[in-house]
Amino acid sequence: MRIILLGPPGAGKGTQGERLVKKYNLPHISTGDIFRAAIKEGTELGMKAKEYMDKGELVPDELVVGIVKERLMQPDCQDGYLLDGFPRTVTQAEALSAALGELNTPLTGVVNVDVNQDELLDRLTGRRVCKSCGSTYHVKFNASKVRNVCDKCGGELYQRVDDTVETVKQRLEVYRNQTEPLIAYYENKGLLFTVDGSKDIDEVFKEVTAILDAKK
Ligand code: ADP
Ligand code: ADP
Ligand code: ZN
Repeated sequence: MRIILLGPPGAGKGTQGERLVKKYNLPHISTGDIFRAAIKEGTELGMKAKEYMDKGELVPDELVVGIVKERLMQPDCQDGYLLDGFPRTVTQAEALSAALGELNTPLTGVVNVDVNQDELLDRLTGRRVCKSCGSTYHVKFNASKVRNVCDKCGGELYQRVDDTVETVKQRLEVYRNQTEPLIAYYENKGLLFTVDGSKDIDEVFKEVTAILDAKK
């Protein structure tokens, strides 16, 4: 299966992605995670990406597209993958489509996780992430058993620097202007499946897996 998770920041792409890749045994390709890892390592890519991420803006297409294309050529992607947070612009979607055309590996489907704006603000400002394994929590909606400690690995939880109210508002605006057009783009290609992402985490997972199981 070759799947894209589409949706605004905070929709639950990472949360659902974590579970989906386990169930279907797919590599989880999150461009946000790739950039955060590069920042941690202090690479040139990381330094460039950080400039944009800290402001809540998108990293330029030419930087993102090259990285994803390279990642998709890795042997573990031969039997499928889950893309989380890519594509985020029509330019990125077109570059992906061209690359997949060359490889003769069409997309299975695009799952659009739909959540309203007010809920997104609450979700993002309460998000906590594990420093060690990257698992995602929420202070109210998906709290860890022990405060600030990861249930899965015991790692320390932290708040992303771009999850402050001001930066979140900017990211939501960027989503509306640059990413939302992808809904129509994939609908026109007959690839779009929309789920109600405002339900609880287990309910959303059920909805997504019902769609994907029917496509297998
Ligand atoms: P979110 O939780 O908002 O979906 P991500 O972890 O996917 O956040 O992305 C964090 C930041 O990384 C984005 O605000 C953007 O600056 C950058 N980024 C991630 N993916 C892309 C992409 N496909 N194109 C451009 N920028 C990206
Ligand atoms: P994205 O990757 O789309 O930015 P995340 O998966 O990181 O979103 O989720 C954003 C925040 O919302 C996290 O704190 C997560 O625990 C929480 N969350 C995810 N799905 C739900 C849900 N269905 N209901 C309530 N909170 C959720
Ligand atoms: Zn952890």
